Amino acid sequence: MPAVTQLRMQGCSTRETARRLGLNIKTLEAYLRRHRIRHAIPMDRPDQVRRNCLNCDTAFVADGRFLRLCPECRAMFG
Ligand SMILES: [Zn+2]
Repeated sequence: MPAVTQLRMQGCSTRETARRLGLNIKTLEAYLRRHRIRHAIPMDRPDQVRRNCLNCDTAFVADGRFLRLCPECRAMFG
């Protein structure tokens, strides 16, 4: 349903978006919740991942899925 995102980006309210697409508003609301596009701007950072460092096992939040070392170890090795 990429049309939904497009209409939301254009500033259409949920009601207006549902009307234009011929959808039930409840269906649309559920869809928006599921895909977190209630607001046009994404609120979370899906590229941030919780990890344990491969070297020292410290828990940290990585900026990308390929980061496997905590900032300290990265500084040490990098
Ligand atoms: Zn580490």
